[in-house]
Amino acid sequence: MAIPMVTFNNGNKFPILGLGTLAATTDECKNAVRAALDAGYRHIDTAYAYGNEADIGEVLQEYMKAGKLKRSDFFVTTKLWLTYHQPDRVLECLNLSLSKLKLDYVDLFLMHTPCAFEETGNGFIPLRADGKPAFLNLPPEETWTKGMEKAVKLGKAKNIGVSNFTCDQIDRIFKVATIKPVTNQVECHAYFNQANMHRFCQQRGIFITSYGSLGSPGRAPAFKKDTDPVLMDDPVIKKLADKYKKSAGQILLRNLTQRNILVIPKSTNPARIKQNMEIFDFKLTDDEMKQIEGINTDYRLFFNDNFVGHPECPF
Ligand code: NAP
Repeated sequence: MAIPMVTFNNGNKFPILGLGTLAATTDECKNAVRAALDAGYRHIDTAYAYGNEADIGEVLQEYMKAGKLKRSDFFVTTKLWLTYHQPDRVLECLNLSLSKLKLDYVDLFLMHTPCAFEETGNGFIPLRADGKPAFLNLPPEETWTKGMEKAVKLGKAKNIGVSNFTCDQIDRIFKVATIKPVTNQVECHAYFNQANMHRFCQQRGIFITSYGSLGSPGRAPAFKKDTDPVLMDDPVIKKLADKYKKSAGQILLRNLTQRNILVIPKSTNPARIKQNMEIFDFKLTDDEMKQIEGINTDYRLFFNDNFVGHPECPF
């Protein structure tokens, strides 16, 4: 079954489901992208920070050269890294991504975070000589109007958006933007359902893209606590999985897409990659959607300590 498309506020269409690739590199990443494209995925989510753009670019070239795909058949998202927020550095970062991806444009370019950092050469999330984080007090709206919008005007990004932004930060962008963001990519799942953010975004014609849709069981140890709940083990989710003869993961993805939220589940396992897109042949009832709403506890799984104290910290 083909993956449904949504229509962004600029009229462009985009797949509601794509492949997440965080922490997948080299052969693992390449094989995951091949498995996804073979299964029918047409959107790959990556970022400058993931270090796998070259792997993804290699596979996309392979498929285009073999005549399996045209450039217009697939969608690639990448993200601006936090040391490139100065307006004159935005294109520099995007050009680096494009060259690794071996593409002339990306379909979606996101500000990875509202928090700007200065490049000190000391660490990927840079520190100053005194060991303190190299925060840069640069409002995201400046990066947006003077850098992100330019990427669209130059034809290097078809759509632009944000990630990990608060409602207030989105409002500030809206006040000055000539090109509106199409999405805010945030942590969003049944235990952290972003109901307020979702309402806010819908009122402004912005889609939420969910990360951690499955509860991110493979997330980095820095983000894990022993006491964290395991979303795919939730009894409400498991009961619905039994009813529909689907997996817990499929119920979670179905719930989000049924709320008109974009999903980018990550997997490097071909069977799970295929399974994660088999969610468009059943529908949860209104009552079941309510039951899932009922397990929300606003439990955040991703909390980035590196941003604490930053003037734009969204957490
Ligand atoms: P996720 O998609 O919730 O979970 C991925 C994990 O679930 C992997 O460990 C995967 O293992 C496992 N999995 C996948 N499908 C499964 C299934 N059907 N049943 C059981 N387990 C399954 O979490 P995520 O990777 O953290 O987030 C998704 C994507 O969002 C990322 O890859 C990245 O592209 C993006 N992201 C963005 C941000 C941001 O700041 N913008 C932050 C985090 C993530 P296997 O690989 O072994 O299948």
